[in-house]
Amino acid sequence: MVIVMKPEATEEQLQNVVTRIEELGYKPHIIYGATRNVIGAVGDERGKFILQSLEVMDGVEAVIPILKPYKLTSKEVKREKSIINVKDVAIGGDELVVIAGPCAVESEEQIINTAKAVKSLGGHILRGGAYKPRTSPYSFQGLGKEGLELLKKAADIALLPVVTEVVNPEHVELVCEYVDILQIGTRNAQNFELLKKVGQIDKPVILKRGMAMTIKEWLMSAEYILSEGNMNVILCERGIRTFETATRNTLDLSAITVLKEETHLPVIVDPSHATGYAKYVPSMSYAAVAAGADGLMVEVHPQPEKAFSDGPQSLNFNSFGNLVAKLKQLSWMMARL
Ligand code: PEP
Ligand code: MN
Repeated sequence: MVIVMKPEATEEQLQNVVTRIEELGYKPHIIYGATRNVIGAVGDERGKFILQSLEVMDGVEAVIPILKPYKLTSKEVKREKSIINVKDVAIGGDELVVIAGPCAVESEEQIINTAKAVKSLGGHILRGGAYKPRTSPYSFQGLGKEGLELLKKAADIALLPVVTEVVNPEHVELVCEYVDILQIGTRNAQNFELLKKVGQIDKPVILKRGMAMTIKEWLMSAEYILSEGNMNVILCERGIRTFETATRNTLDLSAITVLKEETHLPVIVDPSHATGYAKYVPSMSYAAVAAGADGLMVEVHPQPEKAFSDGPQSLNFNSFGNLVAKLKQLSWMMARL
């Protein structure tokens, strides 16, 4: 249910409603708006009509059922776009955000050189995997904790915020010590225990789309994170499985426009995992921006031909520089800054 407060409602009245929601066994989530505040009350769907009784409380204008199955994620609760701030970067604001870095952290030299290049060429956030979810148990699995340490060192040197993937609920606290944003990958997009765990932290989460997930299922996964209290979720379209084999996955650009209708959360696109080939990354990046993406996540490596993972889809520094330069022009045309 959404409890809509009157524009003139006081903070005390708001807190009284929050207390009453808790007494009724539901979880309140206050969403402060420009003109009025609302409280999303979530919990057991079966008895939710008990919340209708809040309508008589001081300061309450209306109590409205949320029709969508994803509640806090939907625009029914929050109409304005969510802007997620990470250090001095705003994701979901006017500026297109570019996240870049290697698939995996491989060595100190590799990640520091990449971080410096990403920064100097106009990227905003560094990426790099320390725990790699690989299809084969015999493939490089990532450097683990050492990878986190190197990632943080590189990010600090380049003065960039940094994101890395977490694959295990038991690693969440450790990963939080080193990075600014946590990523949930496609293979874990319905790992509900992991989603609940990252819902309890105070760092933003990039939630990739499961490779066989509908948009609705994806938003339900986001709801797992939001319902635990973490409202800072960024959705990342990274391609889905189809019958097509010319590309690694099929980039679902229409997901961007659907998500913009359905949710207030920022939407970014990963053209690297979507296509699997560096030569297709620029055109799909431009298409994503034209379709309204708030940002891009691209794989960049100093020597893609020598990468431990995902070399064929990784851009070298030169191609990344060209991409960012063109994105700047395109952002301007799309009335982004
Ligand atoms: C990644 O970002 O390196 C990654 C493994 O992505 P995905 O989960 O989309 O395959
Ligand atoms: Mn990768």
